[in-house]
Amino acid sequence: MLFHLTNPNTSPAPNTTTMTHKPTVVTCGLPYTNGLCHLGHLRTYIPGDFYVRYLRWLGDDIVFVCGSDNHGTPIIVTAETEHTTPRAVSEYFHAHFDEVFKDMGINFDRFGMTDDPTTHHRTTTIIESLIEKDYIYEKTIQQSYCPSCKRFLPDRYVEGICPYCGKHARGDECDQGCGRHLEPGEILNSVCTTCGTQAELREQKHYYFKLSKFRDYLLEYLPTLDGTINARNYAIGWVENELKDWCITRMMDWGVAFPGKDAKGLVTYVWVDAPIGYIAFTEEWANTTGNSWQKYWCNGDRVHFIGSDIIYHHCVFLPAMLHGAGYQPPSAVVASGMVTIDGQKFSKSRGYVIWTKEDYLDKGLPADYLRYYLLAYTNHTRELDFSWKEFQARINNELVNTFGNFANRSMMLVKTKLREVPEVAVKQEILDEITKTLCLVEKLVRTFEFKAAIDEILLLAGYGNSYISNTAPWKMIKEDPYAAAQVLKNCLQIVKASALLIHPAMPKSAQKLWEMLGYTDKIEDHPIGDALVPFENKTLGEVRPLFARIDDEQREDLEATLARRAVETQNKTTGKDTMEAEIDPFLENIVTIDDVAKLDLRVGLVIKAERVPKTEKLLRLQVDIGKEVRQIISGIALNYTPEEMIGKKIVVIVNLKPTKFRGEESNGMLFAAGEHAASLLIPLRDVVPGTRVH
Ligand SMILES: [Zn+2]
Ligand SMILES: [Zn+2]
Repeated sequence: MLFHLTNPNTSPAPNTTTMTHKPTVVTCGLPYTNGLCHLGHLRTYIPGDFYVRYLRWLGDDIVFVCGSDNHGTPIIVTAETEHTTPRAVSEYFHAHFDEVFKDMGINFDRFGMTDDPTTHHRTTTIIESLIEKDYIYEKTIQQSYCPSCKRFLPDRYVEGICPYCGKHARGDECDQGCGRHLEPGEILNSVCTTCGTQAELREQKHYYFKLSKFRDYLLEYLPTLDGTINARNYAIGWVENELKDWCITRMMDWGVAFPGKDAKGLVTYVWVDAPIGYIAFTEEWANTTGNSWQKYWCNGDRVHFIGSDIIYHHCVFLPAMLHGAGYQPPSAVVASGMVTIDGQKFSKSRGYVIWTKEDYLDKGLPADYLRYYLLAYTNHTRELDFSWKEFQARINNELVNTFGNFANRSMMLVKTKLREVPEVAVKQEILDEITKTLCLVEKLVRTFEFKAAIDEILLLAGYGNSYISNTAPWKMIKEDPYAAAQVLKNCLQIVKASALLIHPAMPKSAQKLWEMLGYTDKIEDHPIGDALVPFENKTLGEVRPLFARIDDEQREDLEATLARRAVETQNKTTGKDTMEAEIDPFLENIVTIDDVAKLDLRVGLVIKAERVPKTEKLLRLQVDIGKEVRQIISGIALNYTPEEMIGKKIVVIVNLKPTKFRGEESNGMLFAAGEHAASLLIPLRDVVPGTRVH
């Protein structure tokens, strides 16, 4: 032993807080099972997970639940396109999210599905209770109907113009304009998204929730709602200006069957059952662990992490519904700002997207780096811009140069200059500095100031870095080995506290550091007070660099993937999520204007049409193309009858090499959009047959 302790330090391990906190259920907005996990999702889940881990470290009783949102029309549309069932689509994406969350270190106690029986049951129970209390009424409304598909068009089956702002909108949401929720029948100039036919309005019976009755309740409740101010203020404004009753049924067979009398064929609107999933997932967790879900939902606190695009669903619809049915409303709603990529609005359809699995995890990048970026970049309610350049700068400057450097320097000096950890007591001023950080960070985490909390933790490492630089123990060791040992022991205490403080943000890196410090157990099993327990290990573990630099070559490679995707996606006509992220072949098939000019496209008039015998799909058409009449065999018999075709003016390619279908000569080809529900391309204004198409 080189050094003996001179002044045993008996610093207590106080809790930084004396307040007791209620049992709390923390939830994150449910990912919709119609697409893959991207960076925009993580903006909600990573801070949620950090919050839960930190509060658990403080000793709070927390259950952390989430699940996938499985109902609604987009999933049915995908199922139709993929020739499968909505349940299968949901299970596919559910498994994907489950895997990605685990890989990102997001540890839900329960990650359920809203299509599972628990959510069905809880939704039915809540609606029955609302019916019983006379909060639900029946109303016949004008609803969009497609005369061609012969069906009603709920939500995403219809597109048109927003009646509030005049922008292009989807059936239930003005997603490109004012962002308003749209009620059935509200959208103007509605068009069927499946076949493009102008929709008609037809009467349909629906059920409404008397949301307007909850105005006084909401205006009293909302000012007491904790969380981020953006959520509270937005909701208050909405209740004051826009509150009206809410249609909570849809005519389709995918969803939670509506329990009202005479409600055959109606399911509850997806925004009713999705947040009720939070309760159901808590029930599922409680059932498998022998706990009580009522402890959290009838008492306790409920904290909801969401994206700021779904504030009114959580601050208006949900509390009114829960209050009406006799449950406790949210205690806090924490709404994150949106994500931009390279300063561009996050957009799947325009290719400004970072897929968590394909673009990040599959490239071998550590989950902790992205967790750090999302927490440390900006205030939780502000817009977060992601770029690989900024990512590289943050990791290299903050994690490698500050945090990692301080930890490695301290431990390496102990290893190389002292061989053993000195038994000298840690100085009080160091423990005071750690106590100050613990108090500040707790306050910041509890008030959802995650960036500021991370900054404080980094400041402690920065303090350590300055301390070791100013004292220069590597020089001191020759003249005053005791003083050098004191400095290094102090540094080890700061490293230990930093590891404990950062573990809710970067669990894997913190564990790695913990083992370098010579511990063999799990860092997350240590309570907060351990940050102040004097460093007790006699020897350190193997010391390696904690973080790896992101070099320029790696960054350029990541940037190239993003740039390629943006170009590819912008060439695509559709922005829909597909079952698998596909690589677009367009780039490899670029044509020039000269190539296009080779095609002789003309307007043709169908003068005769008949089925090709013994075929399902083929029509034999006689088409007047001006100078002559051509026979064209076309595979559109499933979509158009011969009678419908006669008299139609269509676009025909007339210099195509003649070919034969089922023995029938075909001398030209016509154009239609889509495959399964092909829509014929026809000129909008009347033109004579034979007119060239440019
Ligand atoms: Zn249609
Ligand atoms: Zn609008």
